[in-house]
Amino acid sequence: MGHPLHHSLSPVMQNAAFQKAELPWVYAPLEVTAGQLRGTLAMMRALNVRGANVTVPYKEIILDDLDGVEPEARWLGSVNTLYRKGNKLQGTSTDGEGFLRSLGLLRKKLRGSTGLILGAGGAAKAVAGALARSGVKGFCVANRSVGRANRLVKTIRQRYPRLESSGLSYRESEKFLSRCDWVVQATSVGLKKGDPSPLPLKDVKPTAFVVELIYHHETNFLREAKRRRLGRLNGTGMLLHQGALSFERWTGKKAPLEVMRRVLLECLSLK
Ligand code: NDP
Repeated sequence: MGHPLHHSLSPVMQNAAFQKAELPWVYAPLEVTAGQLRGTLAMMRALNVRGANVTVPYKEIILDDLDGVEPEARWLGSVNTLYRKGNKLQGTSTDGEGFLRSLGLLRKKLRGSTGLILGAGGAAKAVAGALARSGVKGFCVANRSVGRANRLVKTIRQRYPRLESSGLSYRESEKFLSRCDWVVQATSVGLKKGDPSPLPLKDVKPTAFVVELIYHHETNFLREAKRRRLGRLNGTGMLLHQGALSFERWTGKKAPLEVMRRVLLECLSLK
């Protein structure tokens, strides 16, 4: 469920997974307006729909219309997965854990590290929650609207008071870059081909790594990281792992990760 959905690769990835698991299920894009959200949930309950993913722009506003929300998704205020419990629709988020899994070996570098998250929207919230519980020393959140960054940091601090964290403007974050072991680009800047990089990376340490959540094409942020020979990842791994975790929630089966990865990479190579 989202709007717009024409760019979404989740239907093709999840349908391949259902087929591999021999489940006669179908995953269909439901493009709905905000006004149709409540009615769509009622339809899902009535038709015994097993679950759904929720994406832009409903990850935050859907919380109040669900029958229950898991604790981390509730306090972060972002849901990307719905699943059925009896005849109730529960919400959770697999974005944060999907992000951590996508790091692979880089995950080991998180312990005791300091970093910067660019953005304070739904994706940044999930990433911040996951990083807060992954053993980092601290991080700053930089956002165009600094108030939103400060609110996210406040929410994180209430749960993780020992974490060193603050909200910054982009200008302030440029000065902070030289102290960072990692930078996560979680804004939507870069979604349009030709968008500039949200932040120049010239002061980033050569040992730092960067993660771009956008997976549709190579962004200018990632191009600059490549030019500077920084360790880097795009958002394909996060997309894969959040989808695999949603699949496991709906089916109770282990996700066929390799099939899902192959389908995703095939689709991306056609773009
Ligand atoms: P939201 O709409 O919730 O947040 C958008 C963020 O981008 C906000 O921080 C916003 O700042 C910032 N932003 C938007 N336009 C500008 C601009 N012109 N200049 C500076 N900052 C800007 O989106 P999401 O958090 O859901 O998604 C963010 C990105 O993450 C998207 O590109 C999405 O594709 C990607 N994503 C990838 C996933 C994956 O699996 N790889 C999963 C989820 C998301 P402000 O608060 O000031 O408006």
